[in-house]
Amino acid sequence: MHKESHMMSYGYTPEWSEGSVKPPIFQTSTFVFKTAEEGKRFFEVAYGKSELNAKEEIGLIYSRINNPNMQILEERLAILEGSESAAAFESGMSAISTTMLSYLKPGDVLIYGNPVYGGTHHFITHFLKDIGVKILPFSSTTKNDEILKQLKTKEFSGTVKMIYFESPANPTNTLFDLEELHKLKSTLNSKLNNDVMLIMDNTYLGPIWQSPLKFGVDAVCYSATKFLNGHSDVIAGCVMGSKSVISQIKTLRTFLGSMIAPYTAWLLTRSLETLHLRMSKQGENAEKVVDFLIKHKSIKAVSFPGIESMGTQQNEIFKRQCKGAGAMISFDVYGGEKEAFRVLNKLKLIKLAVSLGSNESLAQHPHSMTHADVPDDIKEKLGINKGLIRLSVGIENVNDIINDLNQALKEI
Ligand SMILES: *Cc1c(COP(=O)(O)O)cnc(C)c1O
Repeated sequence: MHKESHMMSYGYTPEWSEGSVKPPIFQTSTFVFKTAEEGKRFFEVAYGKSELNAKEEIGLIYSRINNPNMQILEERLAILEGSESAAAFESGMSAISTTMLSYLKPGDVLIYGNPVYGGTHHFITHFLKDIGVKILPFSSTTKNDEILKQLKTKEFSGTVKMIYFESPANPTNTLFDLEELHKLKSTLNSKLNNDVMLIMDNTYLGPIWQSPLKFGVDAVCYSATKFLNGHSDVIAGCVMGSKSVISQIKTLRTFLGSMIAPYTAWLLTRSLETLHLRMSKQGENAEKVVDFLIKHKSIKAVSFPGIESMGTQQNEIFKRQCKGAGAMISFDVYGGEKEAFRVLNKLKLIKLAVSLGSNESLAQHPHSMTHADVPDDIKEKLGINKGLIRLSVGIENVNDIINDLNQALKEI
């Protein structure tokens, strides 16, 4: 069966709940064991003292460790990503921070791609740096040799434990080359006799338009708040990868307590039922909006995966590793902040708000909003200009979205 067909019922049996066609919300903190022996066995497995044998299933213990809503959701997330396993979290940031802390300790080296989501940037450059993790940024144009050369300096003595990045990067839609980054990982592993984790944030294109695990990425992180939930009413996150990687991350999740709550998991499970429909429509709408923006005389540049102006290097990567261009468009208006604000203030249908991937269209100004914390010189280098507007395209009638943009662009 296809992935979208599994989203309606996989991992749930109506007999568990009076024949209820959909899983109810298991709003409980704890679960009753049939016998003391059973409780003992469940804990042995949950705390990693013993492995499950082939016929055994892990029993329900306590909702910080496991809960039916979390498990059903995780099984469906793994199907969508084509991974062995998945872990669900109460936010994208808790998915990302728990993943990083599962592998990094003081003295280790983290190599990270710029730009990354603002919250991730803060976690890396403040928290991880403060606890003694050595952080080395790179960009989509940095050659592997340059990174290897920098790692030879004293500042980065220590074991490289992780390469972390986003593709396309927010808000510029810049793609990173998965083959090159996998080569970097392999080189580091052979040189250092090491096990470097290659971790990617797949929020922008996954799981429909991009499958990084097929390119040797070890785990993908998501803000499930975005496309996966798609209704702007939930904050959630997840990580997908092999059983062993996810099991290590889940162990730390249990002790940090960053797991998804039953109600959040239930809402997200409901959203996954329409994921293919929503994302397909958003993608179709975005293509038409891009066609309109490219031709508009008030617009200096449009950033969208696969369009000619992105250049041959970017489009070569796009063809190799993406199945679609997504629904996130960035465009520069002529002028700067004043002109961009005039357009944003005039939008009627499109809401002026951060966040993305939802069924309603949203627009914001990265320079002064989501990326306010990034130093100005880095913003300039990365192309986060004062005239840049980031647009997340929803499922409204595309003519209404285009008409809204058209009337707002008349302001400049
Ligand atoms: C929103 C976002 C995050 C953070 O997720 P939350 O659900 O807000 O915690 C991480 N990465 C990307 C690319 C995002 O867009």
